[in-house]
Parts: sequence; structure tokens; C-alpha cells
Amino acid sequence: MMPTHLRIRRRSFLGLLFLFSLSTSALYFIYSAPGIVNEYLFAVQARSIQIRKNVKTIGAQVLEQVVRGAYSINVTDYSYDFNFSESDAPPTAYLPEGFTFLPSQICPERHSSMKGRLEVNMSEVSLEEVERSLLKHQSSIAPGGYWKPKDCLPRWKVAILVPFRNRHEHLPILLRHLVPVLQKQRLQFAFYVIEQEGTEPFNRAMLFNVGFKEAMKDLDWDCLIFHDVDHLMENDRNYYGCTDMPRHFAVKLNKYSYMLPYHEFFGGVSGLTVKQFKKINGFPNAFWGWGGEDDDLWNRVQFANYTVSRPHGEQGRYMSIPHHHRGEVQFLGRYSLLRHSKERQKVDGLNNLNYSPLISRRPLYTNITVSLSRKLAPVADY
Ligand code: BGC
Repeated sequence: MMPTHLRIRRRSFLGLLFLFSLSTSALYFIYSAPGIVNEYLFAVQARSIQIRKNVKTIGAQVLEQVVRGAYSINVTDYSYDFNFSESDAPPTAYLPEGFTFLPSQICPERHSSMKGRLEVNMSEVSLEEVERSLLKHQSSIAPGGYWKPKDCLPRWKVAILVPFRNRHEHLPILLRHLVPVLQKQRLQFAFYVIEQEGTEPFNRAMLFNVGFKEAMKDLDWDCLIFHDVDHLMENDRNYYGCTDMPRHFAVKLNKYSYMLPYHEFFGGVSGLTVKQFKKINGFPNAFWGWGGEDDDLWNRVQFANYTVSRPHGEQGRYMSIPHHHRGEVQFLGRYSLLRHSKERQKVDGLNNLNYSPLISRRPLYTNITVSLSRKLAPVADY
């Protein structure tokens, strides 16, 4: 038999091992894989909402059958409808095939070439290959990725801003997918990829602010699309023009079982006019790491008395490219910052930001490299 002191030592060793693995997995989810827990929780939440909805509908239908049976209404003329597909999309009138318009006319928002559901190709491809194929067919794309329709006057001049760090395999996939869609939508557009350098945690919001300021030096854009590099739209009727209200485009993500994770969700892809963006003082600069900056943007939009608009039904569907690496740390301080969104809106945003960018024109986009640090956006006490 093992002496008592050895047994106690073995137990405390196992206890220590248990505590160690518990704390390392907690640290892993907090620092190395932020978003996984969120994704999991939202997916579970989405599933349970779906199940509750289905149970309710089936319950109502069974009840109706019972009532019909009791009152001897002909049961056979009633069909069960277990098809829970979306039906909230309003009837949409798209221009008929072959419809022509004059170069002096404003481009239609519902062009016949916008067919709806899109093939999503996530296979990896090099940037050079995408450049070759897009420039071969569309030599009208100018260096920097500028394009505008020739058969009509674009309704919107759209700057697509893409914050970036270490996602070299995603960018060509996004460009291959999105450029032809924007051309079908007859928008004038260019892409700005804002790349964060340095060792600070990723600051998606500050990169958007930098992208906005730089893009506006380039051209008088009137609409801004804030686009994650790994989000691919599934429907080309999700029109990337702006509206009289800030717009949230990425409503239904495959990673959240195609359900809005929460009403205030404003992440992935959103769009504001230049006027709206200036009015809300842009994005906050104070969110270092993953999470919260989109929730703060939502708050800013509400405080400026806007209401967010969203595409209907299937139009807001997106797939996200699976990540090979999840290098960004989670921003744990986001909840306390979000409690002060209103006070911070006036002092943190477009109006307190300094930076020195490095700009280069590539065939399909403008690259803005910037090294970010906290002292570039000083905030006095609020
Ligand atoms: C974060 C947001 C994120 C959302 C969905 C929230 O907890 O604060 O930034 O977009 O989760 O993942």
C-alpha cells in the first residue's frame, strides 16, 4: 500500500494539473480564439430560437386540425406547411433583360443583371491570378481598383474600406467575388485596404477611420462600405449603395445559422453616407482587440437619431471564410467602454485621430499601411 504522504502528494499534483489545464483553456479562449465562444453561444441561441419557432408553428397547425376535425371542416383541403423559408421579402421589380438606358441617366438600383443567389467560391487563389482575370475582362478597372459604369451615371460613388492584418489568403477571394457584383450593381467604386502594422492589438475601428480620411483625399465619395475581408455575400441583390439611414448589410451569417445574433448586431458589413459618418464622428478609436467597436457604432448611430436599415429576407445572407489563424486578442474592456458610448462619441472618433500612412496603388486596390498606437488618438477624461 502507498504511504499516506505519497497519496496526498499525488492528489495535490492531479489537482494542480487540473487547475493548470482549466486556466490555460480559459486563457486560450480569451486571448487566442476570441469569437469562438461567441460564435458557439450565438449558434446555440439561433438554434433554440428556430426550434421554438418551429414548435409554435407545428403546435398551431395541429390545433387547427383538431378544431377543424371537431367542427367537421373538410380536413383534406388543408395542407400542412412545414416549409419555414423566408417570406418577408417584398415583391421586387427588377428591370427586364435587355432593358437599355441612356449614358446620361442615373443607373437603376435594380438592374436586370442582379439575379439574386450567388455561387460562393472560397477556394484559395493568388492575388496575381485575380488581377489577371479581372483586368483581362474589365480593362476599365484603373490602378487602385477604380471603376465606374459607362452605360449610365452611377447613383452612388462607393468607397469599400477593408481593415486588414495577416489575411493574405482572404483578400483575393473577396476581390474575385465582390468586384463583378459591384459592376453588375452599376456602382462607381474603389477598394481601400487599410493594413495595421506593429505589435498593438488589432483596431478595426481606427483602421476604418484612417481609411475614411484617406479615401476622401482621393475622391468625393458619397457612400462608405465598412467590409470585413472574410465576408462573402450570397445574393447580388444586396445593393451596396447607401440609404437615408445607416445600413447593416451582413444580417444573416452562416456562422450564426443565418440568424441575426442580436437586434443591435452591426458587425461584418455596414454602410453609411459620408454625411452620416461625419455626423456620428466616425468609429471609436478606443477599442483595441476583438469585439465591441461595432456595438459602439450602433450606439453612435442611435444617439444621432438614425435607425438602421437592413436588406430583406435572403438578400442579407453571407458566408465567412474559415480562418486558418485567429491571432487577435479579445478586448475584455469593451463592456465598460460601451457604458459610456454617448460621452465618448464627442471626443473619440474622426476628431481626435492622428496617423502617418504609407500609401501605394495596386492594380485592384489602394493599400494604406499604418502603424497604430494609443497615443495617436488621445482622449481626455470623460
Ligand atoms: C461583440 C461584437 C461582435 C458580436 C458578434 C459581440 O460580443 O462585442 O463586436 O460583432 O459579439 O460576434
